[in-house]
Amino acid sequence: MDKILVTRSSMPDYDEYCREIKKLWDSHWLTNMGEEHIQLQKDLENFLDCPHVVLYTNGHLALECVIAAMQLPKHAEVITTPFTFASTTHAIVRNGLTPVFCDINPDDYTIDVDKIESLITEKTVAIVPVHVYGNMCDVEAIGSLAKKYDLKVIYDAAHAFAVRYKGISSANFGDASMFSFHATKVFNTIEGGAVCFQNDELVQIMNDMKNFGIRNEDSVMYVGGNAKMNEFQAAMGICNLRHLKDEIAKRKIIVERYRENLDGIKGIKLSKIQEDVESNYAYFPVVFDGFTDNRNRILSDLAKENIVARRYFYPITNSFECYKYLPTAGREKTPVAAFCADRVLTLPLYADLSIEDVDRICGIIVNR
Ligand SMILES: *Cc1c(COP(=O)(O)O)cnc(C)c1O
Repeated sequence: MDKILVTRSSMPDYDEYCREIKKLWDSHWLTNMGEEHIQLQKDLENFLDCPHVVLYTNGHLALECVIAAMQLPKHAEVITTPFTFASTTHAIVRNGLTPVFCDINPDDYTIDVDKIESLITEKTVAIVPVHVYGNMCDVEAIGSLAKKYDLKVIYDAAHAFAVRYKGISSANFGDASMFSFHATKVFNTIEGGAVCFQNDELVQIMNDMKNFGIRNEDSVMYVGGNAKMNEFQAAMGICNLRHLKDEIAKRKIIVERYRENLDGIKGIKLSKIQEDVESNYAYFPVVFDGFTDNRNRILSDLAKENIVARRYFYPITNSFECYKYLPTAGREKTPVAAFCADRVLTLPLYADLSIEDVDRICGIIVNR
């Protein structure tokens, strides 16, 4: 049987992509904010109901740039969670800031808002929460803490493209949100990313930051890098966005089947369905807590059947070798995140995964 990977990139019809990139052979304009780039930006502002979308070559550099754009004092503290991809913590540290790790809640794995306040010091300047697996953080509680302590909020929304909370697009919370359009994400531009925000004053700096800090032919305003999205990436995005609603609808059917098969089984904990949230069905995490077998055994049993699940997120970022020096490093400081990291598996999920395969995967897990 064919190998089932944890994800499979969405791609448009070959001919559809060729039609889109044909224009590039006519114009010879391959990057630097060409027609495709401008078009995708507009399409995304519409799709996400967001006044400002700035495109980047990947999500990580988008996050680095938006943190830089906040012009926070060096060595200041940023509250974040360790139950995330390496990128989130690295983006904070590569900006010369100090991450302070807050634990997650055991229901949806986002930042535990009841534990944020005790971590705030006079050095705290920002919060970088993660809408992990596409689950929305408690944006209301985070918003009021930010107001009370005058903190910036930058969401790592890499997983939360097309998610809505109480009808409001995930792009519109906090000071800014970063999306990743990596090949493995719900919406992809091969590699790519964006920063979304409402504040008109951020537009210029976010555009300068991805192009060496260059404002115009006469002035260079910031120590920027190169993080521009090229025309081939933008063309892929334009095509994929046309089909996104269908892709999410297909993912929904798969997730519902997983839930039907696995919900209520002793020792299997599924992510809580969030009230008022329109999901993008990005991931299907399962936490094995008191199940007949442990996570690693299940991972290898699936692998024997040519099925690749993923320990996502393990290890957690506050146990990385490179962060041993940090005052808040150490798994024991975030016990819920450590607990979940040892027990979680994300199961295969992509639009074209068949229901038969979902049943087979669940069968291998359950019939032990
Ligand atoms: C994918 C991802 C990123 C980084 O995005 P890239 O586009 O791969 O650079 C950052 N944070 C999280 C949580 C991610 O899953």
